Amino acid sequence: MTVYLDNNATTIVDPQVFTAMEPYFVQKYGNPNSLHAFASETHPAIKQGMERIYAGINANREDSVVITSCATESNNWVLKSVYFEYVLTGKKNHIMVSEVEHPSVIATAKWIESMGCKVTYLPINNEGIVDVQAVRDNITDKTALVSVMWANNETGAIFPVEEIGDICEEHDVLFHTDAVQAIGKFPVDVQSFNVDYLTFSAHKFHGPKGVGALYVKKGKELMPLLHGGAQMGGYRSGTLNVPGIVGMGAAMEAAVEALDFEMTNIREMRDNFEDELLKIDDTFVVTPRAKRTPNTILISFRGIEGESMLWDLNHGGIGASTGSACASEDLEANSVMEAIGAAEDLAHTAIRFSLSRYTTQEELDHTLAVVKKAVARLREISSSFAYAPEGHVSGLTEGH
Ligand code: PLP
Repeated sequence: MTVYLDNNATTIVDPQVFTAMEPYFVQKYGNPNSLHAFASETHPAIKQGMERIYAGINANREDSVVITSCATESNNWVLKSVYFEYVLTGKKNHIMVSEVEHPSVIATAKWIESMGCKVTYLPINNEGIVDVQAVRDNITDKTALVSVMWANNETGAIFPVEEIGDICEEHDVLFHTDAVQAIGKFPVDVQSFNVDYLTFSAHKFHGPKGVGALYVKKGKELMPLLHGGAQMGGYRSGTLNVPGIVGMGAAMEAAVEALDFEMTNIREMRDNFEDELLKIDDTFVVTPRAKRTPNTILISFRGIEGESMLWDLNHGGIGASTGSACASEDLEANSVMEAIGAAEDLAHTAIRFSLSRYTTQEELDHTLAVVKKAVARLREISSSFAYAPEGHVSGLTEGH
């Protein structure tokens, strides 16, 4: 049996999404900007795709949703746009990002910092949640942008973006949130709180890879990214990714329809699975369940290197993760565990299981059996487990 539990890295394309996209490869392949029927036959699908995307996040018609190639691009774009529009022009010289943002935000913030802008890296508390007080304490009239993700990809921790949005509004500061791990996990409504820019990516909610989006609230600045044929309102030129737009639209609609299922059934399956995992000795979970996306568990097995556990899981047909997909090729400690201040030995032991609406109970039962076997085998040969300190571990929910 094979089990895919790495849905925070990417998801299977919903077969209905694939079916919706298919005609736009070899049948209706016209360039939407051309002046003939091959072009115009793509228009209804583009319109429908865009309408579904707008509806999925409850964007206003006057707002912009720009289709990008991925969330990495959307995140880069917002920060770099702020750099060019505010920092380089001397209007403002400070941005804030949480210290556990995805690398596409952190690395861009570091680049901006290297260009002379002040960057505050907001800390997270021992539950893995960004500290709102730090936003209040550090915001000044020189702050151009705050960028804080809605849900963390490692722990699933949901960040208080409504409160942060309010603080930004009070201080007339732009607010961006990376909602990649939020879409399809809980309702995302851009009109329900103050947010100027919001990033998402189709492949995280059963859509195709290579299609992301950036929501931009009406009237908010955005530097054009790609100059050329003036597609996407002139913000991002280039021939439209027709199948991608169709796929993202269909995936968005399906994700919204499946929200109740995700928030009840998947949550329940996750919780039961987590209860079973926590029955294993010396296991620790970050972030209380109520403050997490319904599908995610980041769990430490004391004394077991995350990579060794992945090896055994993979051997048992299970795909999980030790860290964010982009960073998991190097053997570094899990960055969120480090930010929480977990002891060095635990920071290397985190495994992330992320479920989806395609996950079955049978798969979780199989996974549990493989995990138990792996724990027994790996602890047997682990030198660190034998010497691991006993007792309370700050910030982590302890199993038995
Ligand atoms: N932001 C978060 C929170 C993510 O989890 C990811 C993917 O791992 C990204 C951004 C990057 O997404 P993409 O693969 O679309 O560039």
